[in-house]
Amino acid sequence: MRKIRVGILGATGTVGQRFLDLLERHPQFTVTALAASDRSQGKPYAAACTWRLPGAVPDAVRDLVVQAPEPPLDCDVVFSSLPSDVAGPVETRFARAGYRVVTNSSPHRMDDAVPLLIPEVNPDQLALLDACKQTGGGFIVANPNCSTVMIALALAPLAARFGVEAVAVTTLQAISGAGYPGVASLDITDNVIPFIAEEEEKIERETRKILGSLEAGRVAPATFDVSAQCHRVNVVDGHLAAVRVKLGTPAEPAELREAFASFTALPQELRLPSAPERPILVRDEPDRPQPRLDRDAGGGMSISVGRIARDAVLGHRFIALSHNTIRGAAGAAILNAELLLAKGLLDS
Ligand code: NAP
Repeated sequence: MRKIRVGILGATGTVGQRFLDLLERHPQFTVTALAASDRSQGKPYAAACTWRLPGAVPDAVRDLVVQAPEPPLDCDVVFSSLPSDVAGPVETRFARAGYRVVTNSSPHRMDDAVPLLIPEVNPDQLALLDACKQTGGGFIVANPNCSTVMIALALAPLAARFGVEAVAVTTLQAISGAGYPGVASLDITDNVIPFIAEEEEKIERETRKILGSLEAGRVAPATFDVSAQCHRVNVVDGHLAAVRVKLGTPAEPAELREAFASFTALPQELRLPSAPERPILVRDEPDRPQPRLDRDAGGGMSISVGRIARDAVLGHRFIALSHNTIRGAAGAAILNAELLLAKGLLDS
């Protein structure tokens, strides 16, 4: 099979490097174009980028010259990890030029025509692309915010089995979630920062869109309330969420455990290359999940859930954890692209 040629916008950044690492041996995609800011443009990637992942810059991209993030680029599909203040109009220009854009960035996530996709949870939202399919044109598909993805993924089997009526979530988010150089070391060392700009609003609105329903060609958001409080903590990778949930029907904690542990969905059925065997891994130890021990579960694509218990206020509670630059960013976008390919939406 001919590989699909992909371009990475924001290729030198935290998420961009993760894309290149995950795509190095991908069976379906090959990286043919890289773009970043004018600081990097015109340089071979290895000279433009300070590589911050273990190992070396992948050989196949060392000599690719970094370009401006503007069409045309020599690729069929664009993965975007541009900063949110520049991503919106750039992604629109690529989609209008006929490119299929698979983005991590936030500006288009709530657009009516943009699926906010977690392949295990809401593949039906790809129906939003039907209009583009008819015109053969470009489109934008977004993955959620790095904390939202694990919250929505954990809630999905609960919503299906018991219904969800209210959610209150407190996040403890890793430093790498702020990109590089991110939070100054003197601000985060020996400290917790109880503020991440716009994060609480993103979790609240994105969770309801992801778990919403398609009605007359649009997503009607789920009707339950979501309340989020977010904190930056002194962890390199791995976001953790303490979730309290009010379910629609009575359930024993053991039934929640079973709903999490047995959950598999379309990506597992289709055997998509980046799909973990188990999207949700249940940890029964009283002190798990932990970022350092559990963030790489399932190659960083499984979320880990533990501490499942009754809650005196909302009924039930649990802890969820995921790798923010893999399941929360680059890995999520790649899984989205694999589903698009399986559904015939990346055909030339
Ligand atoms: P980052 O480490 O700061 O990287 C930013 C990238 O964008 C770099 O490649 C940079 O290129 C490029 N860039 C910066 N300003 C630009 C401009 N004006 N024009 C063109 N390119 C520009 O950020 P990141 O953490 O990778 O995040 C990228 C996006 O992904 C953000 O929208 C973020 O919200 C989202 N996201 C991040 C995470 C995470 O865990 N980090 C998770 C989910 C989503 P130069 O090197 O040339 O400056």
